[in-house]
Amino acid sequence: MEWTAAARTDTGLRRPGNEDACLIRRDLGLVVVADGMGGHAAGEVASRLAVDEVAASLERAGIATATAEDGRRALLAAFLAANRAVHEAAAANPEYRGMGTTLTAVVLRPGAREAWLAHVGDSRAYLLRRGRLVRLTRDHTWVQEQVERGHLSPREARTHPAASVLTRAVGTLPEVAVDDAVVPLAPGDVLLLCTDGLTNVVRDRAIAGVLSRGGHAGELAAELVELANRGGGPDNITAAVIRIGP
Ligand code: CA
Repeated sequence: MEWTAAARTDTGLRRPGNEDACLIRRDLGLVVVADGMGGHAAGEVASRLAVDEVAASLERAGIATATAEDGRRALLAAFLAANRAVHEAAAANPEYRGMGTTLTAVVLRPGAREAWLAHVGDSRAYLLRRGRLVRLTRDHTWVQEQVERGHLSPREARTHPAASVLTRAVGTLPEVAVDDAVVPLAPGDVLLLCTDGLTNVVRDRAIAGVLSRGGHAGELAAELVELANRGGGPDNITAAVIRIGP
């Protein structure tokens, strides 16, 4: 199977700058998004540093020709390398103190029969298969933990004042726990990686509607960004769309 991917990132309508970052590296099979946080320009620095370090680390590991076992290990190692890079940059510069980022990545194997997923934070990965949208990641947020413990309903969580408080981020601590998974793929599947500037504004049903419609990956990503801006664009918006061909 072939795959095509494209991403759009947008400042949105209310933020002064864009602290999201995304990167597609076909040669590595890599698609990655990040949503940085920190004062001044630190959020932008953290997200950029993290996506670049993931790519550099996968390249050093020879991901393109790695066995399944080595490749999955290399993706986890790349996340730990990104964590180290952001944490060390924050320690070295007072302006960057406390900066961190979400980080969500997939690596597509040659032939695209499966993807490896790694994830930290509240950006998300979704899979659309035959019109059904499945979320592949769990938000690492305080409100998500409260929902899982039955202390908050999903509806309460969405509007909670602490909705954006992360329980895990890349770079804020010397070590980080990384979620990972293997995602088997089928012809016609669509993968989406996105930041919360999309999912806080555009509901899953509307996302599924756009991704089901077909068209080039770039058109779908642009349409998702536009929907978030039509919803007020309160935050930076990033959408990376991967279409798995026949
Ligand atoms: Ca955000």
